[in-house]
Amino acid sequence: MTKGGNGSQFRSEKGSETRLHARPVSRGVAVGQVITIHGDNKQFYRTPIRPEQVDREIARYRTAHKAAARQLTQVGNALESSSNSAAIFDMHRAILEDSTLSEKIESVIAKDRINAEWAVKLITDEYIAKYRAIPDEHFRDRYIDVEDIADQLQTALGGKRHPIRIPRGSIIAAKELRPSTIAELGSQHLGGIITESGGWTSHSFILARELEIPAVTGVRKLLRRVKTGDTVLLDGFDGTVFLNPEGSTVDAIKATRRPARIATAEAAPLGELTKTLDGREIKIRANFDIAASFRHARDLGARGIGLFRSEYLFNRFKGFPGEAEQIKAYREIGDYAGTDRARIRTFDLSLSQIVERSARRDKNPALGLRGIRLSLTHQKHFRTQIRALLQASVEREIDVIIPMVSGVDEIRAVRTIFAEERDALEKRGIEVGDPNLGAMIELPAAVFAIDQLLEELDCICIGTNDLVQYTLGVDRDNETVANWFRSLHPSVLAALKRVIEAAAKRNIPAVVCGEMAGSPFYVPILLGLGATELSMNVNSITRVRRVITGIAYEESRELRDRVLECPTVETVESTARAFVAERWGHLFNGETLVGFKAPVIAS
Ligand code: PEP
Ligand code: MG
Repeated sequence: MTKGGNGSQFRSEKGSETRLHARPVSRGVAVGQVITIHGDNKQFYRTPIRPEQVDREIARYRTAHKAAARQLTQVGNALESSSNSAAIFDMHRAILEDSTLSEKIESVIAKDRINAEWAVKLITDEYIAKYRAIPDEHFRDRYIDVEDIADQLQTALGGKRHPIRIPRGSIIAAKELRPSTIAELGSQHLGGIITESGGWTSHSFILARELEIPAVTGVRKLLRRVKTGDTVLLDGFDGTVFLNPEGSTVDAIKATRRPARIATAEAAPLGELTKTLDGREIKIRANFDIAASFRHARDLGARGIGLFRSEYLFNRFKGFPGEAEQIKAYREIGDYAGTDRARIRTFDLSLSQIVERSARRDKNPALGLRGIRLSLTHQKHFRTQIRALLQASVEREIDVIIPMVSGVDEIRAVRTIFAEERDALEKRGIEVGDPNLGAMIELPAAVFAIDQLLEELDCICIGTNDLVQYTLGVDRDNETVANWFRSLHPSVLAALKRVIEAAAKRNIPAVVCGEMAGSPFYVPILLGLGATELSMNVNSITRVRRVITGIAYEESRELRDRVLECPTVETVESTARAFVAERWGHLFNGETLVGFKAPVIAS
């Protein structure tokens, strides 16, 4: 896939082309103009406004200013009045309430006709630069306080922010991008994405791949190296970013990169079941994101929904959606899946995603109050979700999947909540359905307890993204440890084997639904381990079908036996690579080895 305009239209001064090195996280080539996005928690950028919108924008700023002041007062009041921390917040309030700050911000909104977020950034950046230039270290460090105040204002503005509008084909550069930002920009023909950090399995890049937006990550100090308006060429195949590319570079890169999609005709005829050469049926499910991509997935041969991450609704509604909104969304998903069933996962959020104030954030969100732990601790929103799922399940085949389960007690607690909410709804004369209950198997604890868990569950989803993260103790979003995130580690293979075999013994459906399931290179190993259901993004379907229909189950068992004997991840990878090259080289090319760091095998 190539996004953006014709290479030769991008002229740059001879010799000004520079290369930045990054890691590819979504395949494709993009060329276009950069738009930088700032802010860690609240992401914003420069939006021009019309003259008649100026007064409303200033009013919006004033409301946010009041909210930020209230927030600072609350934080200060919560602390001992004599403490240093309280004094700091008093000082923050003094800066915030200094009338020149607001006067400057409002005047920039009016004069430059820009959104309040950008005006706050411009003026607070000025203050920060002045503080940073002070020779006295003590005063110089006050710039951090201004940063904090800027953050408070941005957070307060976040309540009703301007929808982001970008010119078609723009390339976003940001420190990190949140999934909701990508979702918002993806519908506006975003050309590509460059970030400083993020990992292959982060939700943002899962979404980028789903929306077919080329993306690279791992560019250090990105926002100091590119600015809005720069032209870049982004190669999502090998991760290179060309700043001010010369026309000849653009043409050369475009010419050498294969299109991301393999033509449908290369895969098995649609409409047929997806079977290996020796007749083993493999169900391809779709990870549901938006209705249009599900319809496309169904056209490509997917059956049923293997995973709907309901926290997307949280992102879409900028907070917890209400019961009625959820019923509507789950009914729609159930209707799409029909008798092939829809697996809807309950909110898999972390504390930091729902609480803005840093003091209440978990130090280590992946190990903190996340997934089912958060739902059971703050039950109000979870109960709303369960009520919605019970009502949406009337005459619909829905499986409710619980994220981050570590043992049987959590399943029992969820069943109790189901029973209580069912009773309460029935007492009110409201009709309820009977959804199945399943769990994400993604913690080593769940792997060890798999037999007991299967006693209590109707189905399971194997979340390989988190299973690799937690089995190997590697933060899936941390760029610096990306080399340790090895999906073919012998411990990961042992975990997969144990879970898939335990489910098969009891005839309990098990869907592999992490990124491994959509990476053609891993598919023969998953099949060899016994997987019969794989759930993936729409763009993986054709490539995965091509692999499944081109190999024999018997051969995949042979591959499995060989890799299970390997003592190290290196030997697993080299064994698998050699096996694939020897038997199935014709089915693979560089692009279908995505997610696997080994050298490319040519098709
Ligand atoms: C997983 O962990 O593999 C998974 C499918 O869920 P998520 O990526 O949303 O954590
Ligand atoms: Mg997970």
